[in-house]
Amino acid sequence: MIHINENYLKLQASYLFAEIGRRVIQHQKDNPEKEIIKMGIGDVTRALPAACIQAFHDAVDEMAQDDTFRGYGPEQGYAFLREVIASKDFQKRGADIQADEIFVSDGAKCDTGNIQEIFAQEVSVAIPDPVYPAYMDTNVMAGRTGLFRDGRYDGITYLEGNRENGFIPSLPAEPVDLIYLCYPNNPTGAVITKEQLGRWVDYARANKALILFDAAYEAFIQDDKLPRSIFEIPGAREVAIEFRSFSKTAGFTGTRCAFTVVPKDCLAYSSNGELHSLNDLWNRRHSTKFNSVSYPVQRAAEAAYSPDGRRQTQERIDYYLRNATLIVEQVSAMGLTCIGGVNSPYIWVDCQQDSWEFFDLLLNKAGVVCTPGAGFGKCGQGYIRLSAFNDYENVVAAMERIKNIL
Ligand code: PLP
Repeated sequence: MIHINENYLKLQASYLFAEIGRRVIQHQKDNPEKEIIKMGIGDVTRALPAACIQAFHDAVDEMAQDDTFRGYGPEQGYAFLREVIASKDFQKRGADIQADEIFVSDGAKCDTGNIQEIFAQEVSVAIPDPVYPAYMDTNVMAGRTGLFRDGRYDGITYLEGNRENGFIPSLPAEPVDLIYLCYPNNPTGAVITKEQLGRWVDYARANKALILFDAAYEAFIQDDKLPRSIFEIPGAREVAIEFRSFSKTAGFTGTRCAFTVVPKDCLAYSSNGELHSLNDLWNRRHSTKFNSVSYPVQRAAEAAYSPDGRRQTQERIDYYLRNATLIVEQVSAMGLTCIGGVNSPYIWVDCQQDSWEFFDLLLNKAGVVCTPGAGFGKCGQGYIRLSAFNDYENVVAAMERIKNIL
């Protein structure tokens, strides 16, 4: 008799966006004449950079000729892309990362979700609260948690972010093996300093733990003192894996290209105490289950590093950051406190009331959709997330509407 993986039954229905959608539809039914502005979206709105589009077109043309056509590519990604990533994203910033430590994929969502497969079932896992949900759900599916009770899964160490710690969690009180961190953070927009990140690296080294560092929003860091990569921190090569994506950097959310960095110094133990290379393990997993990103997409991603590509990519980041600055200014002028929006596309607003009540207030009175913080974890209660991924005109209009009702 065929049985299911019952860990799936522990998962909570993806309540957040379904519930937002339900309330928005109801509001539109009740107020068909009112136009809604969505300020909750985590997706980019600007078109791909021209340099990427040109490279994309040229690569498609290559695929049209027998002598330039390409079939299966290397599972880990083409050398042209891995080399430019290693040189421009890492070596140029003093981080010692080589091309063969980079694994190109079709998304940081898949990579952050799949990576847990290479670790033992029994590892103890520390996950931030509030959090991007993929880290938690994939560990639930793998059976590393107990049941969901009172807003929390048994068996997980929650790294709490709050007003007091500025959404940079303290080191866990009990020893943990696998630690998820994400900076610039989704959903809070918080950024981490080299000193703060250094403490996590020291913790991981002292406890034989491993950090999974999600840097999907690194392109929004404009302050050169902040780390764009965990590998800018001394000693991190032995205790960290990093996830990057072209989604928010160059607008590839619909085009799909990302990469994971697994340094060769990163080792973990088997039950008999032997050390094993995580680069080898991830290479084995990746080449068994993944057949590389399409050639034109990898050429388009490579073009984001050309002089034109860099300039055009930066223009997009600047555009969203201008939105973020406006949101922070306006929210602060309304007497609300917020974090994020600087070096980050997300603004995390302390709404001083229930997240969902504030969501309803903004929807019903201002016609503005936000994301209730409670949907990202227990510690998100009392906050909402506003996103800078939008047209500037929409942001201006949304902030004006909110100002008029508060
Ligand atoms: N990591 C974080 C923190 C995100 O917010 C997102 C997307 O919103 C992703 C990863 C997914 O990135 P990708 O589009 O590369 O799958």
